Amino acid sequence: MNQDWNERFLNDFEALSANGATSGGGVERQAASGGDLKNRQWFEELLKELGATVTYDEIGNQFGLFEFDPALPFVGLGSHLDSQPLAGRYDGAYGVLAGAHAAARLAERINSTGEKPLRNLVVINWFNEEGSRFAPSMMGSSVFSGKLELQTALQSTDLAGTTVKEAIAQAAWGPVKTAPEISEYAEIHVEQGKELEKSGNQIGLVTATWGARKFQLTVKGEQGHTGSTLMADRKDALFGASLVIASVRRLTDNYQPGELQASVLQLTLEPNSPVTIAREVKFNVDLRSPSSEVLESAQQELDSIILAAEDESKTSILKEQTHHWDLNPYPRDGVELSRQVVEELGISHQEIFTVAGHDSTNMKDLVSTVMLFVPSKDGISHNEAEYTSPEDCLAGVKVFTEVAAKLIFS
Ligand SMILES: [Zn+2]
Repeated sequence: MNQDWNERFLNDFEALSANGATSGGGVERQAASGGDLKNRQWFEELLKELGATVTYDEIGNQFGLFEFDPALPFVGLGSHLDSQPLAGRYDGAYGVLAGAHAAARLAERINSTGEKPLRNLVVINWFNEEGSRFAPSMMGSSVFSGKLELQTALQSTDLAGTTVKEAIAQAAWGPVKTAPEISEYAEIHVEQGKELEKSGNQIGLVTATWGARKFQLTVKGEQGHTGSTLMADRKDALFGASLVIASVRRLTDNYQPGELQASVLQLTLEPNSPVTIAREVKFNVDLRSPSSEVLESAQQELDSIILAAEDESKTSILKEQTHHWDLNPYPRDGVELSRQVVEELGISHQEIFTVAGHDSTNMKDLVSTVMLFVPSKDGISHNEAEYTSPEDCLAGVKVFTEVAAKLIFS
């Protein structure tokens, strides 16, 4: 039977990857846009085929319920099916499918052995984990865990002005019900780094998330004619932005390699005309480090960078913090439970940090949580070239199934 399940997993993953497929071998499935809608529909059918009942909550989280006894709470097995633009096939999608297969394998085991589970299982496709179309990221799990107000999330707009509420209404997912009560949570994801590849280990037991500080910056200048406005009179918002952008990149030179990652993203400018000086530029700054001290000092340096850029460009720059967290540990009981599983299965493993945030980053503050990684070739992610070998994918599903078994049987 195992052999059949392995084959079926690889086939299902191929079918899943065809939804929103790009010509470069990746996927384009931004939250509630064409590829994501198609994929969610496909996944709903797969869940039903595997024996689940499918429901949604008001923020669009998709639940595949394997209910063995209505009196029992649920163990959640989740990740996300949405993607960045021109993204890889594995980020999030691997974990959601692994969850569906783990649940189906365990349902089959329960049917054939008559063993009585102490928990039900729910497979979760969290809405808008990526945050590329609608901010903030990890939206569905943030609403579920009470960290983000539903109404705030529903009012978030994409660059075209469409709200989450409108996008969800158009998608017409159903039935919309109260989300199930979750007592434990587990997630498996591609590493998006090179640690496992370097060590040759097949499974990462995630012990903590790197700290992060994220900001939205708005540079306010003055619109004017590109020909006739004298250089001395200019308040060019794009010039102000460019001074910050280059300095944010150079900020990392002050730290050891791997100590600080700094990025500038999602730039918009007004009026974006070829003959008019920009009056306003907005962009995001993303600082990440395992060290809170490094993040604090980088944030102070960012403030100095902003002051110098305002002065040189005669603009004003507003800085709004959008995310803030320090090195954020996962519960030890989850790490120990998954260590027991990989040792029993004889699968090579190591403890590991995650640089990226995941839906489990929210869930771990709510319930006991396990977070696992499988290797990513060359650490490439948010890129069509993202790759995890079939062997590593299958080893991950095997481990994830046994983690879920421990969570529902003991
Ligand atoms: Zn992801």
